[in-house]
Amino acid sequence: MLQLQNVHTYYGNIHALKGISLEINQGEIVTLIGSNGAGKSTTLRTISGITPPRTGQVLFEGKTLNSVPAHKIVSQGISQSPEGRRIFANLTVRENLEMGAFTRNDKAEIASDMDRVFELFPRLKERVAQRGGTLSGGEQQMLAIGRALMSRPRLLLLDEPSMGLAPVLVDLIFEIIQNINNQGTTILVVEQNALMALGIAHRAYVLQTGVIVKAGDAATLREDEDVQKAYLGME
Ligand code: ATP
Repeated sequence: MLQLQNVHTYYGNIHALKGISLEINQGEIVTLIGSNGAGKSTTLRTISGITPPRTGQVLFEGKTLNSVPAHKIVSQGISQSPEGRRIFANLTVRENLEMGAFTRNDKAEIASDMDRVFELFPRLKERVAQRGGTLSGGEQQMLAIGRALMSRPRLLLLDEPSMGLAPVLVDLIFEIIQNINNQGTTILVVEQNALMALGIAHRAYVLQTGVIVKAGDAATLREDEDVQKAYLGME
């Protein structure tokens, strides 16, 4: 479904991704793990067109995304729930969700997608008229994921969905990510919480200073000694 071929991404002179190659198959949950600054968020931003690659190819369903602007990438079927949530603080929950459907104007279908988001996140339904900025951290995270779903992505990119959440909410968010996947959406998730991410993913890539150093199925990487030492806090 998605392929990155020898992708190099820069911020000015900073060489953030140094030849990343990876693939995501339809129906999978794939996770990218790695320390701070490894380039995980940059990989998502490269796919979603926010920081396009300088060289290499990003292919989605066989077509290049390299010079496609970010908003067109959304209408092609990829959406991102960004790190730090970045919901619209002054808009209500409903308005935030409507913003997520900005690429579409089929009102009936937008309403049915909003119902689907409310089924996944009943908490958002209860707070539909509340301003985003007054939601709790966990609720803002739910809203960010819900907003990303409103463009009906075939590929959903999640940047640190568990960041800053209490453990019980972390479990809930991961459960919901699995539900979204079971309903047919392919997912690429970036996480600091490598243990949880490896627990729900089919496959994983380990990123270190802009390079993929390991790849494999998630269960195998969870048992890998180097991965356990570096990312799972095990000795
Ligand atoms: P974290 O979990 O800390 O967000 P990450 O793996 O997602 O880490 P990135 O945010 O992708 O890492 O950063 C990769 C590298 O690119 C880092 O060295 C970072 O300092 C640099 N970088 C990221 N954003 C910018 C930017 N806007 N301008 C300059 N350098 C940046």
